[in-house]
Amino acid sequence: MVPQHKPQAKHYVKNSDRIKKAVRRYEAAVKNRDPIGLRAKQRIAERKADEAQRVRALMLLGGMCERCKNNDMRVLQIDHVNGGGYAARKGPTKSPQSAVRDVFKNPLKYQLLCANDNWIKRWERGENKPRLAA
Ligand SMILES: [Zn+2]
Repeated sequence: MVPQHKPQAKHYVKNSDRIKKAVRRYEAAVKNRDPIGLRAKQRIAERKADEAQRVRALMLLGGMCERCKNNDMRVLQIDHVNGGGYAARKGPTKSPQSAVRDVFKNPLKYQLLCANDNWIKRWERGENKPRLAA
């Protein structure tokens, strides 16, 4: 029996043959547009290249948080020493990857902060709107 609180499950059970056919049709159409999954492979390759570039940028900047010396790559963030990271990302190219590229051009403009220290810095500089409004 299908539980009363799951109307979509009830619909699925009733129409499963029709739904499965529609899904197969859709998947065939997608595969037809990109038979060997080229776009997905390209996206994966690009993501790997971006991550490698980010790691090189982190190493160039010392590989650890300026404040607490945390060196966990998963939490390190590239920080504009003088703020303005948001404005810079809003520049002509707008991608986080362009900020990574800029590290190699202007390494002195950047430092590494862990996620916690980056937020603390924003609080100290009043860069974020307080959410704890009284
Ligand atoms: Zn830190």
